[in-house]
Amino acid sequence: MPEGPEIRRAADKLQEAIVGQPLRAVEFAFARLKHFEDELCASTITEVETRGKAMLTHFANGLSVYSHNQLYGRWYVIKAGRTANTRRSLRFAVRGESREVLLYSASDIEVLDDIGIATHPFLQKLGPDVLSTTLSEARTQQQLRDRRFQRRRLADVLLDQAFFAGIGNYLRSEILFQARLLPTRKLGELRNDEQNDLARAILLICRRAYQHGGVTNDLQRAAELKAAGLSFGQRRHAVFQRGAQACYLCQSIIEHAELNRRVFWCPSCQR
Ligand SMILES: [Zn+2]
Repeated sequence: MPEGPEIRRAADKLQEAIVGQPLRAVEFAFARLKHFEDELCASTITEVETRGKAMLTHFANGLSVYSHNQLYGRWYVIKAGRTANTRRSLRFAVRGESREVLLYSASDIEVLDDIGIATHPFLQKLGPDVLSTTLSEARTQQQLRDRRFQRRRLADVLLDQAFFAGIGNYLRSEILFQARLLPTRKLGELRNDEQNDLARAILLICRRAYQHGGVTNDLQRAAELKAAGLSFGQRRHAVFQRGAQACYLCQSIIEHAELNRRVFWCPSCQR
């Protein structure tokens, strides 16, 4: 399942293709949304925003299309008039003069105004977005001290979108390795310095993954592994999906277990 950085990169692509373009057609597959088609088509797209794993396509007329891809949804950007090479079913299409953006397979699509966004049950529950450019280290630390989450294991709480929006399974393992914390530790047990390490790791790893195509490994190390001929999958992460291989820092064997989903850690570097 794509995580925050993958959704944000998809949004960047859509934004580049369609923002400000005159529109030829807006289409929904669902009958309940069809009455919005003409009004949206007469408008233009101003921004493609992400909140965690949800996307908001904002139109100049004040309406926004909310979409959540869940496991199956997929966006395509194609030249106008071409067809996407897929057998999936088309759910939402914005056809511009030169390019078209098409959402396939997703079922979670709604049209919302500002009040609808402010009161949306999923959006309302989201914690701070790890890819928001305005998320500060201080705000991140504040969230780590929020009482609601103190009794939870790090492995569990990091996947909770109400804690931080946009963290998924690979980011969880990589953040905990960067912070040198074991996945079984409880949030409320962390010392102040450990809390600060975790706050910094959340921001560093999520932003690195966004800026470097999903790479969470140390960038210098990833470059050396690339030069040594390792594939993208082999050099991408420090611990995630590296079970039974040696830790890059201490040579201990990376362990893994099912904690909610599969989590990976170094038994020596992480405490
Ligand atoms: Zn290690």
